Amino acid sequence: MAESNLQEQMRQLFALQTVDKEIYGLKAELEEKPRQIEELQKKFEEKKASLKALEDKSKQIQVKRKEKEVELAAKEDAIKKSQVQLYQIKKNEEYQAKLKEINGLGADKSVLEESILKFFDDTDAVNKEIEKEKTVLAEEEKKFNQQKKEVDDRIREVNDRMAVLESNRNQITPNIEKKVLAQYERILKNRAGLALVPIKNGACQGCFLNLPPQVINEIKMKKSLVVCEACARILFLEEEL
Ligand SMILES: [Zn+2]
Repeated sequence: MAESNLQEQMRQLFALQTVDKEIYGLKAELEEKPRQIEELQKKFEEKKASLKALEDKSKQIQVKRKEKEVELAAKEDAIKKSQVQLYQIKKNEEYQAKLKEINGLGADKSVLEESILKFFDDTDAVNKEIEKEKTVLAEEEKKFNQQKKEVDDRIREVNDRMAVLESNRNQITPNIEKKVLAQYERILKNRAGLALVPIKNGACQGCFLNLPPQVINEIKMKKSLVVCEACARILFLEEEL
């Protein structure tokens, strides 16, 4: 390759690498996005779950209360029956025994009434928590939608930018010799988007290996592309570009 031609090729490669570096960065960012949305969704679902748990708790309390109400109704029936029986009893002994039974039933009834009242109080307390949780959740939903929108907006922005970069790329690649471009693209793929690197303080800026002085001399001679022996990236000197 002629000296001037090689220098021009290196300049084109440098322009291409600048575009490709951004493309690789944006591609990596895009790949992250679905996971980000999933993460936001998961956190939001977890918050919904705590509301669901409270609602379940409220339902359970109501079920227990209804059981007690059925028991109470049965107790009241039993008391009524016993009271009717009481008036039919002639013997004092039996009368006293029935009276005692009715008192016992009455005591049971009081206990049931108390526990029903307690369940009502519990329901009130849980429902209050539910209302609070609903307010919190509405805020969370707003936040979630906002964050999701930000991610979606960024995805659109990245895609738009990528289209511009691809078109820039298409303007540069015809200026590069096929063989050189193929070599560059092979390295680009194998080296995560970084195929062309400068030498700084005598070291390859791709893998940071210290390069022997003859490598630098070879670059200055501008006879052929010079690659790093460790990472295979194409090397250049900023001052020679
Ligand atoms: Zn290297």
